[in-house]
Amino acid sequence: MTSNRRTFAIISHPDAGKTTLTEKLLLQGGAIHQAGLVKARGAARRARSDWMKIEQQRGISVTSSVMTFEKEYDGETITFNLLDTPGHEDFSEDTYRTLTAVDSAIMVIDAAKGIEPQTRKLFEVCRLRSVPIITFVNKVDREGRDPFETMDEVADMLALDVSPQMWPIGMGGLFEGLLDFRTQEVARVEGGSNEYLGMRDPLDQAAISGNFEEEYQLAQAGYPEFDLEAYRNGDLTPVYFGSALKNLGVEELIDAIARIAPPPRPQPAGEEKIGPEHDEVSGFIFKVQANMDPNHRDRIAFMRQVSGTFKRGMKLTPSGLGKPIAVHSPILFFAQDREIADTAEPGDIIGIPNHGTLRVGDTLSEKNEIRFTGLPNFAPEILRRVQLKDPTKTKQLRKALDDLSEEGVIQVFYPEIGGSSIVGVVGQLQLDVLISRLGAEYKVDAALEASPFATARWLKGTDAALRDFEKFNQGNLARDRDGDLVFMAKSAWDVGYQEEKNPDLAFSATKER
Ligand code: GDP
Repeated sequence: MTSNRRTFAIISHPDAGKTTLTEKLLLQGGAIHQAGLVKARGAARRARSDWMKIEQQRGISVTSSVMTFEKEYDGETITFNLLDTPGHEDFSEDTYRTLTAVDSAIMVIDAAKGIEPQTRKLFEVCRLRSVPIITFVNKVDREGRDPFETMDEVADMLALDVSPQMWPIGMGGLFEGLLDFRTQEVARVEGGSNEYLGMRDPLDQAAISGNFEEEYQLAQAGYPEFDLEAYRNGDLTPVYFGSALKNLGVEELIDAIARIAPPPRPQPAGEEKIGPEHDEVSGFIFKVQANMDPNHRDRIAFMRQVSGTFKRGMKLTPSGLGKPIAVHSPILFFAQDREIADTAEPGDIIGIPNHGTLRVGDTLSEKNEIRFTGLPNFAPEILRRVQLKDPTKTKQLRKALDDLSEEGVIQVFYPEIGGSSIVGVVGQLQLDVLISRLGAEYKVDAALEASPFATARWLKGTDAALRDFEKFNQGNLARDRDGDLVFMAKSAWDVGYQEEKNPDLAFSATKER
């Protein structure tokens, strides 16, 4: 049986239209009945979570969530699990890790701006794991670039084959609609307001102003044809055009996810790969989020289910704990409400409430024999020294840093020489979250100071090689939360230099648990 689950994320640069598109996808899927609900829910959530004042101050959502919706295709119900990645320029490891839990991604780009920096970074993470990508060129209702230019930019900058599936007819004030190459139908906009009202007609050249025929024939002939295997290998991206705002091209996009996006993919577990057909329930934790209530130390661990049929109350063993836990109140995240799940299938995301026993990177399984690999920590790009304002709170600080690094909010490094801990993040926003939560949840007043280090590398090698290195570099060494040795580098150059000098050691920018 092929799975009817499609688990995916949207990657984009801020302002490209991710929120608007998410809303329209949910509307199409019947999960919400009123546009504006995604933002409205965001506001309601923020009101509940005023422990994290930062969300209000910055007007952004730091936490990411999961939205599930369904749609019928040829008598079959397809379940879409959309994993939201925080839509802020200042992305965090959360965003990276979320991409380890999806089977495919939609890359939204602004028709006027093309590939922007964050799109590119997120794309690179997808590429690392060969996550297949559907491209959605948004805002075609506005004056944008020539579509050929956008196509060529995606192909050149991302080194991908591009295969157009739709083409815009005109642009900006002259925008008339979208041609779907597959059905040869035109989704038309109506009248002066350029609204899409669900009209679709067979392609009729006579009804189109200007010389569109030449353009679309060039577009169809000038790029590779769609190839399912190439797409699923991450070598080719089908390109859709549309306007999330006007709900145009969205139905074609969602159909594409149903038709071509991969069902749950096998996940790497050491030498092996575990597929959905594996006969026990297994999954991995890709994200841990503290509960909204400051008076409770509850956390929700997000598990991406990889195999088996999960049933409520089932006993699963977390790899980090070694003894089974009963999952009595798992949560499935629906667009409108959190519901208690009775069963879940591979591809689904299950929220598991716990008191800190579950960590990012943990495998959960029935027999405790599987270990999923490839959920990396990423080399921090910003490192800061933590200065405690009240020296009697050393213990609390250590506990807080350990907790928050478990959650994946920050990474913590304890230098081999010298007192103060160093925290590492990939985006500034994580530091704001850290200070805010240290104060609110741990009553620890701390400040962050410049550290002499620019990045960090996990060290691997024989014991002898490591000991040798330690002898000469103690001032630049630290241990992470798990006690693993980390080289703290003053610059990228420093990393290169040490790599050259120590050919027996591996300096790794990522660490897999
Ligand atoms: P996000 O930051 O990627 O989530 O972007 P939003 O969905 O919040 O959209 C950013 C801005 O672009 C908002 O003002 C939207 O109304 C606008 N926008 C989104 N999609 C479209 C579109 O298809 N056409 C036009 N003209 N504007 C759009």
